Amino acid sequence: TYNIKNNFIKNIIKKDLLKYPEKKINTRFPPEPNGYLHLGHAKSIFLNFNLAKMYNGTCNLRFDDTNPKKENIKYIKSIKKDIKWLGYNWNKKIRFSSDYFQDFYKYAIILIKKKLAYVDQLNKLQIKELRGTLLKKGINSPYRNQTIQENLSLFEKMKNGFFKEGQVCLRAKIDMNSSSLIMRDPVLYRILYKSHHQTKKKWCIYPTYDFSHCISDALEGITYSLCTLEFLENKKLYNWILKKLSFKKNVPQQYEFSRLNLEYTVLSKRKLQLLLNKKIIKSWDDPRMPTISGFRKKGYTANSINNFCEKIGFTKQESMIQLSLLDSCIRKDLNISSYRKMAILQPILIFITNYSKNTSQYLKILNHPHNIKFGYRYLSFSQTIYIEKKDFKKKCLDQKKKLKKNIKIKLRYSYVITIYKIVLDKKKNILFLLAQYDPKTLGKKNIKNNVNFIIHWISQKDSIPAIFKFYSPLFLKKKPEKSKNILNIINPKNYFKKKGYIEKSILKIPLKTSIQFERIGYFFLKKINFKKNLITCNEIISLKKK
Ligand code: ATP
Ligand code: MG
Ligand code: MG
Repeated sequence: TYNIKNNFIKNIIKKDLLKYPEKKINTRFPPEPNGYLHLGHAKSIFLNFNLAKMYNGTCNLRFDDTNPKKENIKYIKSIKKDIKWLGYNWNKKIRFSSDYFQDFYKYAIILIKKKLAYVDQLNKLQIKELRGTLLKKGINSPYRNQTIQENLSLFEKMKNGFFKEGQVCLRAKIDMNSSSLIMRDPVLYRILYKSHHQTKKKWCIYPTYDFSHCISDALEGITYSLCTLEFLENKKLYNWILKKLSFKKNVPQQYEFSRLNLEYTVLSKRKLQLLLNKKIIKSWDDPRMPTISGFRKKGYTANSINNFCEKIGFTKQESMIQLSLLDSCIRKDLNISSYRKMAILQPILIFITNYSKNTSQYLKILNHPHNIKFGYRYLSFSQTIYIEKKDFKKKCLDQKKKLKKNIKIKLRYSYVITIYKIVLDKKKNILFLLAQYDPKTLGKKNIKNNVNFIIHWISQKDSIPAIFKFYSPLFLKKKPEKSKNILNIINPKNYFKKKGYIEKSILKIPLKTSIQFERIGYFFLKKINFKKNLITCNEIISLKKK
């Protein structure tokens, strides 16, 4: 279980409970099935589900499905899967706003009969014109004062498919001079000729978010309707509708918190959809996408995402969360849960000339330095080994790219060697290195003072070829959402591959397991192709901050 740190919402709940100890803490998570869930949704999921759990309440999962033109059943499936993967269970059955279409219709008629709603025959553009702006007063629609009978009859016609899309709509009759634009006769129902994934062709009129959300909350007995700050203005309408429809007992209360903004990341389904439309990314669950499924595919754990949400907390202040916070959450988790193996990303071969060709020995080594439950693996040591080209260049060559004399290298878990010659090909590329090993140094722990550095390695005959995939942030700018066109700030190097080797014991590890390649980073084991003798991994996160 996770701990929600004290925040303003928790304080409100605590206060309410002091006053009304019997009060139920019922929350809901209301995604629209028009895309995959992203990390921003995880923040909302974390809050709603954990608050309910903490106070013995319930959290409903409700698909906010009032726009069939944008929605799809595949999104419903992925959303359910992601919420379960994050470790949350919704209250009983899944709800749909569309479960209440008949209710919304009934409530619309009540508003018409109370002279609080009318069928406007202006089109979208005209409505916008007359709505005015913060500086310009609104103007009443000429249809605003139709009689109840006229409105009932027009609404009936709307429902029966008499009008074209956009020709008419149902509007609340509130105040065209309100200082809140949203209260200037907002649209409650519009016509959409599109088969709905749940109700099929039953309806051609669909309620708007503002009309359906508050009523759905009330019908489900939601007591705390938590949403992001952009809905602050909508709250006036939320409360107006519930009041005018005479919901009195346990009226849901809306509270707003700031949305998650993360460096180098866009968290908006619309913008993520744009990346897909422009074929910059192929799928919602691509490891570069900030979607829950993308993180899962990359190898992130549900626990690391929940810990991240716990850490960022909930406030009313807009802020930009550093990517390093997410990085540290996943590192912390993987440090505990990952097997250790050795891998070489850019191999360079060493011949150990004083080690006999036909000998090989096996070193028994823990799969996790602090947890014996991960068991052991056997690493072979032999005459030819691979080390990282980077280690060699950085530590064995001087400024003139000449071999430094008498550099002693400790091969982790194994011997100390000294490289004494670089063998070049005709084009002066390094072919391999020659070295000597010191037989007295095997497994000696306190030889640190006598060696210049310790590196990872793999014996050639113990190595399996591998492809390592690396993903970097998709955007070059820290605040991509601030850019006019996010397509102009795509990081061209958001993906690259390297070819190298992994120690053979990797074959005993199940797929989709996370592994720490020692001194490199955490990787996710994606594919083992036995025919081609090739392994594919992707980097989850590097070991240290880059
Ligand atoms: P988007 O802007 O990405 O389309 P949305 O708000 O339209 O997101 P919904 O499916 O309607 O997506 O959202 C479901 C819930 O998730 C809402 O309560 C919404 O406030 C919340 N949510 C969406 N994005 C974020 C975010 N970045 N941070 C926190 N909560 C979010
Ligand atoms: Mg939405
Ligand atoms: Mg949206």
